[in-house]
Amino acid sequence: MRTQRQVVNHSLRKRAVLRDLLTNRVGPLDVCDASPYLKNAARFHGEPTDERCPICRSENLTHVHYIYGDELRQSAGQARTLAELPPLAMTLREFQVFVVEVCLGCDWNHLVEQYLLGRDGLTESGPEQTAVGGVPATDASDGRRRREARR
Ligand SMILES: [Zn+2]
Repeated sequence: MRTQRQVVNHSLRKRAVLRDLLTNRVGPLDVCDASPYLKNAARFHGEPTDERCPICRSENLTHVHYIYGDELRQSAGQARTLAELPPLAMTLREFQVFVVEVCLGCDWNHLVEQYLLGRDGLTESGPEQTAVGGVPATDASDGRRRREARR
């Protein structure tokens, strides 16, 4: 998505949990604890994926997108389909998206990634400036902040 920014990937944490499971440091009941709310969100708003569940290996994972932010008011904390996000990103300045993977077979669930969406991500310099991994044009303001801090 065009305004996607500040992406935090949680795959390292997921790998750590799966490792703990293999070494019996945690049991399946500790990680396969999807709430009825989460499972309903997965059924009604989830995006099916081609990824097999790492625990039961019999179902594919479903991604649920939760949205948070002051501008969302009573919708904050609700699940949205992926198709509902771009229109929201064009109307709101900024909101946070949390992507949770859920297995409807064994109730495995884990936070996959989080990111910001919203019009604030559209810089005046255009989308070609928003390259991934690049240093955004905030150097000037950073310098100002650093100078202010020294004062
Ligand atoms: Zn499963």
